[in-house]
Amino acid sequence: TRRSSVLPELARGGGPSPKAMVEGQVAQPPSSTAPLHHSADAERSPSPSRLGEDVVIAPLDDLAGFDALVVSPGVPLNTHPIAAVARAAGVPIIGDIELFAEARASLPPHKVVGITGTNGKSTTTALVHHILRTAGVPSLMGGNIGLPILAQEPLLEGGVYVLELSSYQIDLTRTLDCEVAVLLDVTPDHLDRYDGFEDYRASKLRLLDMQAWDQVAVVASDENGVGSAVRAMTTGAELTQWFGGDYAIDFADEQSHWPSLQGPHNAQNAWAARIACLALGLPHGAIDAGLRTFTGLPHRMQRVATIDGVAYVNDSKATNPESAAPALGAFPRIHWIVGGRAKGDDLDACAPYFGNVVAAYTIGEAGPRFFEVLKGRVPVVENAGSLDIAVAHAAAAARPGDTVLLSPACASFDQYRDYEERGAAFGSLVEKLA
Ligand code: ADP
Repeated sequence: TRRSSVLPELARGGGPSPKAMVEGQVAQPPSSTAPLHHSADAERSPSPSRLGEDVVIAPLDDLAGFDALVVSPGVPLNTHPIAAVARAAGVPIIGDIELFAEARASLPPHKVVGITGTNGKSTTTALVHHILRTAGVPSLMGGNIGLPILAQEPLLEGGVYVLELSSYQIDLTRTLDCEVAVLLDVTPDHLDRYDGFEDYRASKLRLLDMQAWDQVAVVASDENGVGSAVRAMTTGAELTQWFGGDYAIDFADEQSHWPSLQGPHNAQNAWAARIACLALGLPHGAIDAGLRTFTGLPHRMQRVATIDGVAYVNDSKATNPESAAPALGAFPRIHWIVGGRAKGDDLDACAPYFGNVVAAYTIGEAGPRFFEVLKGRVPVVENAGSLDIAVAHAAAAARPGDTVLLSPACASFDQYRDYEERGAAFGSLVEKLA
């Protein structure tokens, strides 16, 4: 258990907090009568052993008597045995966001913006946070981005907590009533942890379902059944705002003033951020100021250099075809570096933008397959294998005005630790070219 400023009672092991278990480690109030050392029935079920002042290791096969099982969102609830044990014992499985939600009543008056979707969460979260700060509103960003929410100092009265929420985090949350919930796109992803797409979509929609009826839900996409699923919900926010509906905004002109928010997907993210901030009471002028000064997040459509008139763009965070597609839509003449550990067999989501690709360089595990997928559909395709060969060949072929784009449409784990290491590798290869 981490000492937390938002939940001091829990961190101290006192107060009204539930007995909580964190990834196999149990925090108990000092007053607890639970045994700390082996007892007679140790053979059957080893008793908790001491780990720290307030932390003991409990037997994982017996959760009776616990109020909650607190797990990291990385624990797959569909396959991990501890989840079955908790369910059998009737112990709710929650995460840090739920602990935050339950502590809200003791925080100074504040609002919460919860942001979810398959793609665009981090960008939209950072954008809302930046707009609020630029407007002088105390804002704190957490959840699936940056520091965990419980590790941060609570805001003063009138502040806004801007939370990026993955579907895994929502699965561990029961009572988060967001003043503003934002649902970006929902496309097939993470299906290894869900019973199919509808189950995954339902997980995202629960963010809206947890809202009281008079809160605001911002829905940025009508695709993949999201619209009808939202309309079918009976308990969620009444004041739902739709992308393309009454609040449609023509972004083409505005977007030219936003250096870090290029491409159609960012128009959608900026729209969602604008509506969320309007719902929080900000005027358009203050929102415009934030949109103009946002510098973007690394590894997302990040222009790392322009060399001899050729732009080098790091979009390493595009780990599925749906997120690579908008990057392909954002530039006219692209040398596309694509591949890694694929999440599917095809690149269908990217196909509408193949016309922008002058050459493709496939890399990683998916390289040979994507070579076959792209052959005959883009003018030039080469199975480069590695990022350094791909960058070298793309740089040699590119003409002024072209863009060399790393937007892999794949996870990075076949060749890199994570997408950040892959993006950094691209950055240093480009630096060497310069
Ligand atoms: P997330 O946090 O949901 O993974 P990011 O903001 O980090 O989203 O963006 C991840 C990738 O998804 C980026 O490479 C970007 O090009 C793409 N992307 C961003 N916003 C959207 C969107 N609204 N729709 C589709 N793809 C998007």
